[in-house]
Amino acid sequence: MPTHHRAEDLRSHVATVLRAAGSSQKEAATVAENLVEANLRGHDSHGVGMLPRYVEAVLEGGLKPNSNVNIRMDTGTLLNLDGQRGYGQVIGEQSMQLGMDRAKQHGSCIMTLGNTHHLGRIGHFAEMAVAQGLVSLHFVNVLSRPVVAPFGGADGRYGTNPCCIGIPLVGRPPFLLDFATSRVAQGKMRVAYNEGQQVSPGTLIDEHGRPTTDPAVVVVPQSNGLFGALMAFGEHKGYGLAVACELLGGALTGGGTWHKPTDPGVRTVLNGMLTILIDPTKLATQVSFEEEALAFVDWLQAGPAAPGFDAVQIAGEPERVTRAQRDMEGIQIDNATWREIVAAGKKFNVEMPHQ
Ligand code: NAD
Repeated sequence: MPTHHRAEDLRSHVATVLRAAGSSQKEAATVAENLVEANLRGHDSHGVGMLPRYVEAVLEGGLKPNSNVNIRMDTGTLLNLDGQRGYGQVIGEQSMQLGMDRAKQHGSCIMTLGNTHHLGRIGHFAEMAVAQGLVSLHFVNVLSRPVVAPFGGADGRYGTNPCCIGIPLVGRPPFLLDFATSRVAQGKMRVAYNEGQQVSPGTLIDEHGRPTTDPAVVVVPQSNGLFGALMAFGEHKGYGLAVACELLGGALTGGGTWHKPTDPGVRTVLNGMLTILIDPTKLATQVSFEEEALAFVDWLQAGPAAPGFDAVQIAGEPERVTRAQRDMEGIQIDNATWREIVAAGKKFNVEMPHQ
């Protein structure tokens, strides 16, 4: 039976383990807050279930607690940043703060960030920007294991390369599009595997390149020692966007692209991220931007709902609904994930409450 946890309890447990794994109090609180927020918004794949992987990465030396973002190059509107293998939740916020200040000052900022550990839910960074009235675009690559097959390919060659676009809507919650370019996020396969569930056809291929619905193929090495792969969303179009994320998030940032065989023992996940920030108040289109954006969203949502749907939504709405629900009802965690979290604490002599 899965268990329900209050967000504040999870924050406290996760922060305690992170502290024991070497993080300062501030860093532990930031990472714990970010992970629990992902659960609250319905993306359990990027929530507290990542903790065991993070502490393994600390132990293997690939994740460096208490690192800060390093400015490699700064022209005012162009920033080249290095995450120094620090917690992505912290490095990402530090980077966004720098980029947002520049966008407010100059009207825009193009920011490359390489060599940071897992940034988690990319939408968090777009939320920071839209809260300040900024438009925010993010193209991200993932250096950990090539879990996604190219369109027309039969094995994994790159990561789940997320793409995210945040657009403020005056007087309303923002448009917040945030997704992996694989048909589903890899972490959702871990959650499905831990819950003993099969996944939808068309999501996965096995280690021989054959279609399968068993999430184990991308979570544990198969009989031949290889993994299967996730498929790209949107066929050749989603695949094209994923390659753009690799080229922009990996090559352009200096963080690097993936081009080597899998090492199943490595737990470190590095992200590269290209961020483009725009301050609409600095463009002569500000008034029409605000009016036209609202008019379009109203027009979209005035349409009839299709069978099986209650209403037309815009990106960001499902997460807001889930957040309100989970705030009240708590966060459900499956047994296997909770056991992994407890075991992660034990590595640092932290006793976690049992379910
Ligand atoms: P998903 O498939 O759940 O898609 C989420 C997006 O679709 C959101 O913007 C959501 O608002 C929108 N959406 C969902 N239903 C909708 C509807 N009915 N109408 C309109 N819009 C709708 O997300 P995912 O691909 O599983 O990604 C989950 C998370 O994983 C994201 O936060 C992403 O940033 C993160 N991620 C991170 C990494 C990394 O390496 N850091 C890698 C991959 C994914």
